[in-house]
Amino acid sequence: MVSLITGGAGFIGSHLAEALLLRGDRVIILDDLSTGSVDNLSHLRSNGALKCFFDSVMNRHLLAEVVDESDVVYHLAAAVGVRRIIESPVRTIETNVKGTELVLEAAAKKKKLVFLASTSEVYGKNTKVPFTEGDDVTLGPTVKSRWSYATSKALDEFLALAYWKEKRLPVVIGRLFNTVGPRQSGRYGMVLPTFVSQALEGQPLTVYGTGKQSRCFGYVGDAVEAILKLMATDRAVGEVVNIGNDEEISIDGLAALVKERTESASPIEFIPYDQAYEPGFEDMARRVPSVEKLLQLTGFRLSTPLSIIIDKVANYVESRRELVRPVEV
Ligand code: UDP
Repeated sequence: MVSLITGGAGFIGSHLAEALLLRGDRVIILDDLSTGSVDNLSHLRSNGALKCFFDSVMNRHLLAEVVDESDVVYHLAAAVGVRRIIESPVRTIETNVKGTELVLEAAAKKKKLVFLASTSEVYGKNTKVPFTEGDDVTLGPTVKSRWSYATSKALDEFLALAYWKEKRLPVVIGRLFNTVGPRQSGRYGMVLPTFVSQALEGQPLTVYGTGKQSRCFGYVGDAVEAILKLMATDRAVGEVVNIGNDEEISIDGLAALVKERTESASPIEFIPYDQAYEPGFEDMARRVPSVEKLLQLTGFRLSTPLSIIIDKVANYVESRRELVRPVEV
C-alpha cells in the first residue's frame, strides 16, 4: 500500500508516517514546512520506504503525480494553531480552502480514498456537552479572525462530502479534538507544549483567561490509531467522526498537573485573553467530544491518561533541550 500524507512533516503527520511505515506501507510526504519540520522526520529519513517532497499542495503538477502514485491520501496539510491563525488569516483561509480543493480534485480523478483532517473548532461556540457529529455549527462573526479557521475547515468538510455525494469520491472526515504528544511545538500557541516548556524552564505557566475553560486532550498515538482504523472501515466512508479523548480538564487544572508531573516550582500566571491574543478574542468554555461514533465504527477509544501524555511530552522537551544546551567545559 502506498500512502500519501500531505502535511506529513507536521506533528500529527509525522506520527502517522511512522505508524504507516511500521505496518509496511510505502509513504510519500508532501509538506511545505510552513509549520512542519524536517526534524520531525529525522528518525525516519533513512527508511527506504519513505519519500519526501518539501513543496506545497498548491503545486498542482506535483500533487497530481504523488496522488497518482498513491493508493490512499491522508490530507493533513493545513494552517494550524490559534495564534498563527490570528496572525496570518489570509494564509489560513487560502491554505485550508484552496489546498483541500486541489487535493480532492486530484484524488477524484483517480477515485483514491481520502482522509480529511478536520477539527473540533468546527463546533465553534456551541455550548452542548458532549459534541456529537450531527450538532449545529455555531461560528462567531467574520470580524473575529479566530472564526476563519473553523469556517475554512467547515467548508473543507462540505466540499469533501459533496465530492462523495456527487462524484463518489470515498472520503473519511475526522474532527480532531485537542491532540497532544511529543513533537508538538508550542510556537503556534498550543497549550500543553507551552506549559511543559515553561515548567521545565522554571518560567511562569501562562494561563489565559480565568483558567476555568476546559478541554479534552487526546494522545497523538491514539489519534493516529483511530485514523487508521477509520480508513480500514467501509462504513466510515462519507462520515464525519470525532477523534478525541472524552476526559475533561480545566486549563488551570492542566497547569497544576503539569507542575506536579514535572516537579516544577514555576508559578501560575493568569493573563487576560485580550493580551494573550487580540482584543475581543472569544474562547470556547468547554469542548468535549462524543466518542460513540468512533467506538461504533472501530471499537476503539482514545484512552491514554493525561499524566502519561505529560510525561512523554516532558521527556521529549527535555531531550530537545539537551540537544541545544551548550556543552560545559
Ligand atoms: N491557553 C493558555 N495558555 C497558553 C496557551 C493556551 O491558557 O499558553 C489556553 C487557550 O486560551 C485555550 C486552551 O488553553 O483555552 C487550549 O488552547 P490551544 O491553543 O492549545 O487549543 P484550542 O483548544 O484553543 O484550539
